[in-house]
Amino acid sequence: MRLQDKVAFVTGANSGIGKAIAMRFAAEGAHVAVNYLPGGTREADAAAEIATFGTTGIAVGGDVSKREDVERMFTEVVAKFGRIDIAVNNAGIEIKRPFLEVTDDEWNKVIAVNLFGAFLVHQTAARQMVKQGPGGKLINISSVHEDIPFPEYTAYCASKGGIRMMMRNLAMELAPYRINVNNIAPGAIATPINQAVLDDPIASKNAISEIPWGRFGRPEEVASVAVFLASDEAEYVTGSTYYVDGGLTQQVTLY
Ligand code: NAD
Repeated sequence: MRLQDKVAFVTGANSGIGKAIAMRFAAEGAHVAVNYLPGGTREADAAAEIATFGTTGIAVGGDVSKREDVERMFTEVVAKFGRIDIAVNNAGIEIKRPFLEVTDDEWNKVIAVNLFGAFLVHQTAARQMVKQGPGGKLINISSVHEDIPFPEYTAYCASKGGIRMMMRNLAMELAPYRINVNNIAPGAIATPINQAVLDDPIASKNAISEIPWGRFGRPEEVASVAVFLASDEAEYVTGSTYYVDGGLTQQVTLY
């Protein structure tokens, strides 16, 4: 058990990568607060599943882009478990739109959830970690698009690139408190966010042709790296991005 009795807060944890992380953390002995977006299409069910691992799971509903929601959720978690050891900023959205057509609302929505939400979750978690001492682990699920471009997803890339720089700054500012801050950058993972591509055989084949490993990744493969970064084994690891992408970022099209 690599996370025995640790308390973890995972955003967007009722689906895809976030759910896989919540389940792996529980399997490693952690108590997990499972954040979900109320009124979303995939309401909370992960918290109940956590009980099957013999640890405690609670569902905390709230919008990560709203300060009052984030602060209320952390208050609920600390009231229940007494502390926060690990916070994973995973919730995210994407909107595909040519740059010349992106509206203010579309831009602001993506930045609000992906970047402002990351700021709120990690600031609220870090304040609690500093107060309770000692240490803590902050993890972002960013994307390979924190580094490589993705035409027609400019707001998404800007948000993930912003998370990259936020993480690197926090790694420096929070080192004196022994709070580790790292990113995981997934490539193409088979989750609901990619449902349209997964359901389209031609789009799927095209996507896979860009991945040296020759297949989509699984949410559990992202969760494995999250367990390491959340564990005591990552004591000296801070300020880095870990790619889980089957080599996607190394792919260079020459012709
Ligand atoms: P997903 O759609 O299954 O999960 C996204 C989660 O975020 C959902 O649970 C959704 O309800 C939640 N969410 C959205 N807006 C929210 C809000 N305002 N407040 C709280 N929760 C909110 O997709 P996923 O693939 O599991 O995505 C998880 C993260 O991984 C995202 O940040 C995404 O950008 C990132 N990512 C995914 C891939 C991939 O290929 N699947 C690749 C790179 C990065």
